[in-house]
Amino acid sequence: LNSLPEVDMRTGRILATEALVRWEHPTRGLLLPGSFINVAESINLAGELGRWVMRTACADFSGWQRSGIGIDAVLRINVSPVQLVSAGFVEMVAETIDEFGIDGRSVCLEITESVVVQDIETTRITLAGLKKAGVQIAIDDFGTGYSVLTHLKSLPVNTLKIDKSFVRDLGFDPDDLSIVRAIIGLADAFNLGLVAEGVETVLAARTLLEHGCYRAQGFLLSRPLPGDAMAELLAKGSVPVDF
Ligand code: C2E
Ligand code: MG
Ligand code: MG
Repeated sequence: LNSLPEVDMRTGRILATEALVRWEHPTRGLLLPGSFINVAESINLAGELGRWVMRTACADFSGWQRSGIGIDAVLRINVSPVQLVSAGFVEMVAETIDEFGIDGRSVCLEITESVVVQDIETTRITLAGLKKAGVQIAIDDFGTGYSVLTHLKSLPVNTLKIDKSFVRDLGFDPDDLSIVRAIIGLADAFNLGLVAEGVETVLAARTLLEHGCYRAQGFLLSRPLPGDAMAELLAKGSVPVDF
């Protein structure tokens, strides 16, 4: 697993760490999730992979917390659409965080917009169960899926993550700025947390700050890190934000 910090761009403080799965392939080297998650899903291994990610991420996180670092940080874990609507998912999550002694409130599961719309009834039940387990929910890649707007009111969602395609060219592309401002307005209106993904430039960071979005991830702030490097960063508590 690699970890990507989420940063408060006003202060540099690390607010969260997102688990990003990697596959050390014997001949092809280090593979990114884009090249194997779909395959895993198509051969019914999504549950297996998801359980491994959940356990490994929780083990790392609880290890860090036991050594006194990342105490106030949130652990973010991506959940595939297949996994979210599969039987026993809520129990698996609840048992895992319990086993590793993690407070549910410091875990946030990231789901995508499309799943919410595809199977709204199952999603509703699953999200209610997760809420009961104390876990937070974020909508990942917000703005790229089918509109979930009508469900934002009624589902227990805590946070929106603005897709990186709208963030990358912020400062150059006026259309992207319009979209981002609309999402900021939406998050305000529904009282949701907001995180920008894919901040690569100082211009994008400044533009987001100017419009009131201060939580972000992206290569400008940090690359995805191996566990030991993430531990070091959490111990430091912040990254430099000289922009
Ligand atoms: P995501 O959850 O939206 O994660 C962010 C992705 O954007 C990561 O790619 C990260 O490396 C990349 N990223 C971060 N900052 C920047 C930036 O400034 N510029 C650019 N161009 N990219 C940036 P990664 O690790 O390849 O993951 C891709 C997607 O795969 C993730 O998107 C997530 O949807 C999925 N994924 C990752 N880990 C897991 C997992 O454990 N389970 C499941 N089901 N999906 C996963
Ligand atoms: Mg994510
Ligand atoms: Mg994303």
